[in-house]
Amino acid sequence: MLKVEGLQAEVDGKSILQGVWLDVRPGEIHAIMGPNGAGKSTLANVLGGKPGYDVTQGSATFLGKDLLELLPHERANAGLFQGFQYPVEIPGVSNLQFLRTALNAQRISRGEKELSGAAFLKLARVQAAALGLDMEMLKRPVNVGFSGGEKKRNEMVQMGIIDPALAILDETDSGLDIDALRTVGEGINRIMRKQDKAVILITHYQRLLDYVRPDFVHILADGRILRSGGAELALSLEADGYAPLLENVA
Ligand code: ADP
Ligand code: MG
Ligand code: MG
Repeated sequence: MLKVEGLQAEVDGKSILQGVWLDVRPGEIHAIMGPNGAGKSTLANVLGGKPGYDVTQGSATFLGKDLLELLPHERANAGLFQGFQYPVEIPGVSNLQFLRTALNAQRISRGEKELSGAAFLKLARVQAAALGLDMEMLKRPVNVGFSGGEKKRNEMVQMGIIDPALAILDETDSGLDIDALRTVGEGINRIMRKQDKAVILITHYQRLLDYVRPDFVHILADGRILRSGGAELALSLEADGYAPLLENVA
């Protein structure tokens, strides 16, 4: 589904990604962990197409397309969803307007018919209820005045409505209380744990991985994946921190 090969990227002439290799197949959930400043958000942003990053080496192929050649909305139309570490607020645009416009733009790009207002509202109601987000909140401007936890739940509602092939979720668990963590974890499983979908889950903590069990865990440090393993790698990290893993590599 996604093949990243030798990806190097810089911001403002500063080298951040130093050669990242990642192979994500349909049906898989990959967790990416790593210390602050490792380049995790940079990797998500480069794959999502955020402006301001210079890719200096390497490639990324998504469902057979050269991902790095596509504009951000073309990546989304191709089935890529990015959940942000810091979701943005969009005053003046309601969540429902925003999502209906996004969903219909994607449907049209695939040669499908637009969803009617009624059908869209039904879909939005189902997704909001599943994530425990009041429908009234979806009538408000995107993320404006939402708490940190509500922003993260809202991202999962967006994901449920958009129904992407690949979701890159950047610290979706940050700022969540215990109940919200379970709801969000269950949401990720319900929406994305499917044969034809995949998830890249960037997280600092094991606790989200208690709900969303990863098939692979990668440790990113200094802009490289220094170690990959199964779910047990996250547990050893929780117990011992990064130092032993990074020392062994050195
Ligand atoms: P992580 O998500 O793993 O904590 P980031 O990808 O956010 O790390 O950042 C990696 C490194 O890149 C950090 O040292 C950060 O300061 C730097 N960086 C990120 N964005 C910029 C930017 N726009 N300008 C300069 N440095 C940046
Ligand atoms: Mg960070
Ligand atoms: Mg980050």
